[in-house]
Amino acid sequence: MANTPYPQSYYAASANAAPPRPVLQGEVETDVCVIGAGYTGLSSALFLLENGFRVTVLEAAKVGFGASGRNGGQIVNSYSRDIDVIERSVGPQQAQLLGQMAFEGGRIIRERVAKYQIQCDLKDGGVFAALNSKHMGHLESQKRLWERYGHTQLELLDERRIREVVACENYVGGLLDMSGGHIHPLNLALGEAAAVESLGGTIYEQSAAVRIERGANPVVHTAQGKVKAKFIIVAGNAYLGNLVPELAAKSMPCGTQVITTAPLGDELANRLLPQDFCVEDCNYLLDYYRLTSDKRLIFGGGVVYGARDPANIEAIILPKMLKAFPQLKDVKIDYAWTGNFLLTLSRLPQVGRIGDNIYYSQGCSGHGVTYTHLAGKVLAEALRGQAERFDAFADLPHYPFPGGQLLRTPFAALGAWYYGLRDKLGF
Ligand SMILES: Cc1cc2nc3c(=O)[nH]c(=O)nc-3n(C[C@H](O)[C@H](O)[C@H](O)COP(=O)(O)OP(=O)(O)OC[C@H]3O[C@@H](n4cnc5c(N)ncnc54)[C@H](O)[C@@H]3O)c2cc1C
Repeated sequence: MANTPYPQSYYAASANAAPPRPVLQGEVETDVCVIGAGYTGLSSALFLLENGFRVTVLEAAKVGFGASGRNGGQIVNSYSRDIDVIERSVGPQQAQLLGQMAFEGGRIIRERVAKYQIQCDLKDGGVFAALNSKHMGHLESQKRLWERYGHTQLELLDERRIREVVACENYVGGLLDMSGGHIHPLNLALGEAAAVESLGGTIYEQSAAVRIERGANPVVHTAQGKVKAKFIIVAGNAYLGNLVPELAAKSMPCGTQVITTAPLGDELANRLLPQDFCVEDCNYLLDYYRLTSDKRLIFGGGVVYGARDPANIEAIILPKMLKAFPQLKDVKIDYAWTGNFLLTLSRLPQVGRIGDNIYYSQGCSGHGVTYTHLAGKVLAEALRGQAERFDAFADLPHYPFPGGQLLRTPFAALGAWYYGLRDKLGF
């Protein structure tokens, strides 16, 4: 049987020790079978266990194998489309609920890290960097919008002030969110998995769900076993494939790439990011970066529609890094990797229930470290019969990608080309 290891990455190379986890063999019975051990699955499992459910997690590869163990590590609040878009597309009551939840995921991460003593290099402070006055105007209205929903740890940065937090000459200003921040993402997932097990949950690795037998008593089948459950939570996101065919049409896996420099040394690292905040710029196809605990720069950006693995990741990302930081031209790149996130047409999460007992949350469109933690809580609430917050997400409208499964990739790439051109021209 295939044994899928972690992809080569800085995170895999610096991961905390984790126990070997069994492959599912034979039949087990549980209250909730969670499919996927990324943040969505692990967060759901933790909230459910804390509320007395028996939980079995099936992971096709290893804990944090997907986006949760490969991402930029940026704790970015709100959703991939902001609350103003939500306000325009849904009613005021639903918008109010979703707006209030927009910063909850970051708080959940901090609570988890504190409660279960997870070693994942948690740091506070995230910066949105403006490349032009239009971006700056957007950040000013974003601050007003977020404050309207009670999110107040925000500071606008003018051109002088942003130079104090990031040594990049390209920015005209920014917005500092002290409730943002960064983590070692794989170590967060590994710590959450250990917490799941400490509460009596079971995680099977190398145990892909290959078929779901639906009905009043659903059964999830793997190659060598099956799980009988009262409820199923589908949390496979961009790696799910066609296990649940009705989910595939309204979302599209996309790849995004990250590089990691050799250690920069304290002096250079502190010159680049003196307060150790993480940064993302305001472009549609945005660049994002931060320091690691051993003072490397992790830099990501760009999107490959349709989730193909690019042959030379460094060739795609390095020019972006050098545009932001020409001072790094002689620094060696030690790691480069790709990972998949799941895009929806609205860029808002795809949440819902199939029949009475199959729940899902996916498609946070490249902006999911915080949302996925919230999703776990909201799914657990729904399974306990408190579905108001779940319904606020489930009622968000979703549409199939134009062109269907065959043509959605070129259509989306065309859209991205258009937005990329707008970024370049500063519109
Ligand atoms: C390179 C990259 C950088 C990113 N940077 C950031 C960032 O800095 N900040 C941010 O907010 N967001 C970022 N994101 C997005 C964020 O990482 C994701 O939104 C989030 O991790 C998704 O979590 P998840 O649990 O839903 O999915 P995943 O973490 O992808 O987990 C899904 C899991 O399900 C498993 N699985 C799939 N199918 C099956 C099956 N049939 N049976 C069993 N298991 C299955 C997979 O193996 C996988 O482990 C980034 C994403 C990528 C790829």
